[in-house]
Amino acid sequence: MELLNLHRIVDVTLAEGPGVRCAVWTQGCSVRCPGCFNPQTWTTRGGFSLSWRDLAARVLAVEGIEGVTLLGGEPFDQVEPLGHFASAVRSAGLSVMTFTGHVLEDLPPSRLLDSTDLLVDGPFLADRPEPSRPWVGSSNQRFHFLSDRYDESIFATPNRLELRIAPDGGIELNGFATTEVLEALLEGDHR
Ligand code: SF4
Repeated sequence: MELLNLHRIVDVTLAEGPGVRCAVWTQGCSVRCPGCFNPQTWTTRGGFSLSWRDLAARVLAVEGIEGVTLLGGEPFDQVEPLGHFASAVRSAGLSVMTFTGHVLEDLPPSRLLDSTDLLVDGPFLADRPEPSRPWVGSSNQRFHFLSDRYDESIFATPNRLELRIAPDGGIELNGFATTEVLEALLEGDHR
């Protein structure tokens, strides 16, 4: 299978994993955690289609990134084309960080898993907020270092929230912030 169903691509970000990365959100999530921050990615309708080859060509043309982060949606719902994509960009020297709402023990062997350096697993649990580690919303979510590319030093990276003004004037956010920070931002918006 060639085609991916994607929700969003941010070519260059400091807010979605270690270092400077390209972030790719998939469209469609079968996990459906209550309280999910991205419920608009649940449906498999909507989104846009792109072949994994075209996505790889786009990502590999971005200068200055050390890797790519795959987020959801649920990346493992599109395990076959994303596996080809991850394998291709990793062969070209980029690192691959993949988020999943499943736990590693439940994931069958796959090219996507084999091509992932850093796996963040587990569903979002709204009643177990994460106190300190970056990029994750709940404390049950685990970081698996599947290669020697990364280690626990990544936990020193601060969470960041990035705001972009789209060509149509709309505001696009990505990254991660506490509810308090988001509320402070929204309050500032009203002043
Ligand atoms: S797996 Fe991710 S995208 Fe899917 S419902 Fe859970 S938090 Fe949301």
